[in-house]
Amino acid sequence: MSELIKLSAAELGRRLAAKEVSAVEVATAHLDRIEAVEDKVHAFLHVDREGALEAARAADARHAKGEAAGPLDGVPIGVKDVITTRGVPTTAGSKILEGWRPPYDATITTRLREAGLVMVGKTNMDEFAMGSSTEYSAYGPTYNPWDTTRIPGGSGGGSAAAVAAYEAPLAIGTDTGGSIRQPAAVTGTVGAKPTYGGTSRYGLIAFSSSLDTPGPCARTVEDAALLHAVIGGHDPRDSTSIPQPVPDVVAAARLGATGDLSGVRLGLVKEFAGEGAEPGVAAAYRESVDALVKLGAEVVEVSCPSFKFALPAYYLIAPSECSSNLARFDGVRYGLRAGDDGKHSLEEVMSLTRAAGFGPEVKRRIILGTYALSAGYYDAYYGQAQKVRTLITRDFTAAFEVADVLVAPTTPFVAFPLGSRTSDPYQMYLADLYTIPSNLYGGPAISVPAGLSEGLPVGLQIMAPTMADDRMYRVAAALESALPPLTPPAL
Ligand code: GLN
Repeated sequence: MSELIKLSAAELGRRLAAKEVSAVEVATAHLDRIEAVEDKVHAFLHVDREGALEAARAADARHAKGEAAGPLDGVPIGVKDVITTRGVPTTAGSKILEGWRPPYDATITTRLREAGLVMVGKTNMDEFAMGSSTEYSAYGPTYNPWDTTRIPGGSGGGSAAAVAAYEAPLAIGTDTGGSIRQPAAVTGTVGAKPTYGGTSRYGLIAFSSSLDTPGPCARTVEDAALLHAVIGGHDPRDSTSIPQPVPDVVAAARLGATGDLSGVRLGLVKEFAGEGAEPGVAAAYRESVDALVKLGAEVVEVSCPSFKFALPAYYLIAPSECSSNLARFDGVRYGLRAGDDGKHSLEEVMSLTRAAGFGPEVKRRIILGTYALSAGYYDAYYGQAQKVRTLITRDFTAAFEVADVLVAPTTPFVAFPLGSRTSDPYQMYLADLYTIPSNLYGGPAISVPAGLSEGLPVGLQIMAPTMADDRMYRVAAALESALPPLTPPAL
């Protein structure tokens, strides 16, 4: 096993720029690692060895001329399979898109290519990003590198597991209700949901358009910030993209790493202070708050009474938007087509395709969302959920008057055993109890390792006001500097 796979993206970038190592060597080390551990982890749905080596050769040519495309030129990355990649299979974890090779790149993909990152493959995920364990992938689950009998979180379990298992130092995730942060928490990695609109949705296969947010997955806070800086910023192709530069998240992460948090006010969310969390998670949460206080942070308690309605509001808004977004998968335009034998009508082909192509969780949400949006029920369900969304935003606004960031556990429980929550959707939904509020509000939030409970990783979540992404990186890097690093057992 090459030692290169253990290095951070920042360190790889430095060694590449100094020509101490070539991008081809770095890519090969990671591709070999993927080959060695994928039967145990299954983080990838598609590995693009040829594409990666070609990109690595191009990176080496740039480095040879001293024309690096940025600090991550030549660094490998995994991309969640919900992001379109031209010519490279993109399934969103669904049978309905099996074999689809997009004719275009998402803006995220374009920016990765322009910054010289080397895409090693597409990572596994719950179908259309609906789930918290990767068990709803139509291609089989991903396994947690800390304990392969347990889930790696979801929906972006593949991205988090790839990073935790040293298959890539970086990955792209998407967070609609927690799908970057919750997998980061349960795999002992770092995952950040940027401000909604701070990263482009163009070419991201839509789940819930008012919530979907692409973001970075990494093993260190600095690496997450470096990737955030590459993918963030205004995109004229996304009408909800914020026409402002991303705050300097890299400088903020480096400032935080000095371990000084004097003057930073941490808001402890009263309603989330361990409520509903496993005892080991609550203990790790308290210890990480103590560690932040030792670094000079000041603690204030804030109350966010509407947060308790976030989960039910989300499970009306997200399915409503998904029922509309997923209407495009009709067997006519992309991927699977069932019943096209000359004996079925167009409507029958559409219905047979959707029956065969979508899994049970996706169908459950389409049915729920269609119902919530239907005439007569719209005001009672969808309209009411939107009002709750406003109340949650007001809670955040009030809390940020007295606190610079809010902290809470990322998820109420450590990685659970595979199969233990699939028969009860509500038990699965509970994984996002603490992550959903910031999606409904739109502000940035990060999960950073906060120690272990019963030998499994726990995450601390740090939430910041919209467009203050730098604040969460500073606090996250400070905590990282104060705690011993988490290393998963050898696979
Ligand atoms: N687990 C949540 C859900 O199932 C969040 C998903 C996500 O963030 N994509 O909807």
